[in-house]
Amino acid sequence: MSLAQRDKAILWHPYTQMQTAPLPIGITRGEGALLFSEDGKTYLDAVSSWWVNIHGHAHPHIAQRVSQQLQTLEHVIFAGFTHEPAVQLAERLLRLLPSNQARVFYTDNGSTAVEVALKMVLQYWFNQGVEKTKIIAFEGSYHGDTFGAMSVSERSVFTRPFQQYLFDVEFLPVPVPGKEEQTLARLQELLQHEDIAAFIFEPLVLGTAGMVMYSPEVLNELLRLCRKQKVMTIADEVMTGFGRTGKRFAMDSLTEQPDVMCFSKGITGGTMALGVTTCTQEIYNAFLSQDKTKALFHGHSYTANPVACAASLASLDLVEAPEFLQNLERITASHAAFAQELAGKEGIKEVRQTGTILAVEFEVGETSYFHNLRDVLYNFSLENGVLLRPLGNIVYALPPYCITTEQLAQVYQTMEGMRQLIVARAF
Ligand SMILES: *Cc1c(COP(=O)(O)O)cnc(C)c1O
Repeated sequence: MSLAQRDKAILWHPYTQMQTAPLPIGITRGEGALLFSEDGKTYLDAVSSWWVNIHGHAHPHIAQRVSQQLQTLEHVIFAGFTHEPAVQLAERLLRLLPSNQARVFYTDNGSTAVEVALKMVLQYWFNQGVEKTKIIAFEGSYHGDTFGAMSVSERSVFTRPFQQYLFDVEFLPVPVPGKEEQTLARLQELLQHEDIAAFIFEPLVLGTAGMVMYSPEVLNELLRLCRKQKVMTIADEVMTGFGRTGKRFAMDSLTEQPDVMCFSKGITGGTMALGVTTCTQEIYNAFLSQDKTKALFHGHSYTANPVACAASLASLDLVEAPEFLQNLERITASHAAFAQELAGKEGIKEVRQTGTILAVEFEVGETSYFHNLRDVLYNFSLENGVLLRPLGNIVYALPPYCITTEQLAQVYQTMEGMRQLIVARAF
């Protein structure tokens, strides 16, 4: 029996209607930007396998460092104990992050990194006896699938069954080009309320919303307003971190600094699950007390797993190598050239780009996630040997940085093919 058939009998996949989903594709091996399937096909992974695989698959340097760590220390409880990979990773991360970031808290994924960020800012105020309990988030945002993370994310058909358990959040329109003043005015209005604890945001690009983009200038303004009102700010860099926006971090494009930052996805180069939440000394200090109940009561069995930390350290070696920024520049320039070629063509509503993220929004009539178009485009990309996962009528490339010029051309060709399909209404 094939992997796909054995899977079909007993497994349950994420974001998948199991009754109607086609058989999953069994992958036996990965190398660079390529995935190899059990039926002998090759797929170009143009979405870095859900945005995690920044250096490509089975990178030998990461493999070697992980293997070494496995033979040294695979895990140790992180309450009352510590280890070299956890300490070294925190030291190296803080050197790369905005200068006000001072403390590192480990978890297992992006959602838990967000949960911890929310707990940090809410308890920061609680510990000081200040009644600030409201969170502000962007409309259309996505911060994860656990309950706190769902609460600060766009409410949709996906969250409807849990609606009554999600806490109240003030949603702010995204300041996309032309809408900046509207967002700034709305934030000023919200900040009149005394009970606002924090503002959480995906910096520069809202991923799951469909790669919705806005400028660093307006984000600077928003953060300045929050700082003036002593409202904490949380930069969720789970998707944007580690090169996506063309710089190491999206926040590197800003002059303002956030109070809290969240990381996961690219942090281990797509090798191991790991989440990181960092914060300022000021936030950390609010948890220091002779009173034990003022501590941050959050932890996971696998907190700071040494193998995950080692994978992340190996990934950081690659992130800090000179070729890293060169690759970002190469992909950014390549995307820009294609974006210019595509913009204005028939069937194209908008082409958006921030660094290595390229999004093409097709002009179609009625759109929704469940619209048949999404499946048509998805299947078309797979038939062309490229893995692209459209969000409705939006298709995006978020490639591993090792992707070659020829492979990028194959991605663009596939996108152009999609455009022709839509123009011809050939589905
Ligand atoms: C993916 C994502 C998350 C959730 O991360 P998981 O590891 O999937 O739980 C949170 N925030 C942003 C911006 C993301 O893109």
